[in-house]
This record gives sequence, structure tokens and C-alpha cells, in this order.
Amino acid sequence: MANLTISAVCNQHCPYCFTGDHLGGSGSNRRFLEPGDLDARLDFLDRSGMDQARFLGGEPTLHPHFSELVERARARNKKIVIFTNGLMPQESLACLEALPATECQVLVNVNEPAEAGEATFERQRATIRRLGERALLGFNVYRADFRPGFLLSLIADSGCKGASAGPGTALPLRGQCLRPPPSIRGDRRKDRALCSRRGRGQCEGRVRLRFRALHVL
Ligand code: SF4
Repeated sequence: MANLTISAVCNQHCPYCFTGDHLGGSGSNRRFLEPGDLDARLDFLDRSGMDQARFLGGEPTLHPHFSELVERARARNKKIVIFTNGLMPQESLACLEALPATECQVLVNVNEPAEAGEATFERQRATIRRLGERALLGFNVYRADFRPGFLLSLIADSGCKGASAGPGTALPLRGQCLRPPPSIRGDRRKDRALCSRRGRGQCEGRVRLRFRALHVL
């Protein structure tokens, strides 16, 4: 699996952001991947036998040529996987809506409504509704006192695939082990046991958290 960073720009400021230091193009004047530069990356995916083009950022849908990037990847028969906060331009949303659900998965990273703000959360809800079964919710656990109940109503209300929750990072957690922040890090031996039960015992105390009750697949 390879993720392609196509944007160093984001319209959110999540406290757990794994890429915060690099947002805004700092360290480089390049805020967005040049469309022509995608081809070399797609060549790499082809050589590696990968059938997915996985776009992330920053916020990938803010790329001014987002639709073109998707088209280039689709021309190589890649399934499209997008990691987004759901606050996307209409053109990007229309581009994703036009793809069959079997060829497109959009992991929409949401925060608790009280933290996101009502207007932001409603924009995200509207996007998730339009994406329907293309959408999978992502929720990052970066405090011990989070309240994930809103995800259930969001899943029921939007027709999305379900939700995946995990320790504070914007990355998707399927098949991955990530180190939780100190505030929720548990006993190292228990973490190892959890990982071992999943057959991933070499990860030195890292733990993956998923809340199966939230999955409506
Ligand atoms: S976690 Fe994602 S949505 Fe939040 S600030 Fe970072 S890149 Fe943006």
C-alpha cells in the first residue's frame, strides 16, 4: 500500500494532525503535486502491482486539478482511495460522486461536532450523504474522554459504509499499527498481547484500536 501526498494545504486544524508541520507548503514552495508528476508515481504503483491510487494531504480535494489527478489514475485502472476531512470543493465532490462505489473509497475524517463546530460538521454530513456507500468515517482518538456516540447517528443518517476509530492520527487504521498518544497509551504488555492476537506481534508495544460496534458493513 502506498499513499500519495498531493496537497500540502488543509482547511482544518486538527490537534492530532500527523502532517501539521508540513502543511501550507513549509519547507518547500510546492503546495500541490504537479499533475504531470503523478505519472511517475503511478508508474511506481504499476511496477509494485498496486491497484489503488490513494490520495492524501493536507486536504487532497483542495488540489486545483484534483479531477485531473483522479482521471489520470483511473486511466491506469486504479481504484481511487481518498483521505479527506469532507470539506471539499463541489467540483471535487462531483468527481468522486461520478465514480462507481466499487472503484472509489473515501475515508472522511470527522471530529466530534462540539469540537468541529456546527457549521463544519453539517458540511461534512452533507458530503458524506452525497458520497453514500463510497464513504467510510474515520475518527481519531486523541483524548481519553472522547464521545463517539455521534458516529452511530451519522452512519445511520448518511448511508455510508461505517466507521473506523483509532488513536490520534489522520491515517486509516485497517491493517496498520500506530502508536497512541501518551494520554491513552495503555500497559505495554497488554498492548503487545492485543497486537499478537492480531498476528502483528513485532510492533514493540504499538496498539491498534478499533471499535467494532461502530462498524456497519
Ligand atoms: S488531520 Fe487531516 S484534516 Fe486535520 S489538519 Fe491534518 S490534514 Fe487537515
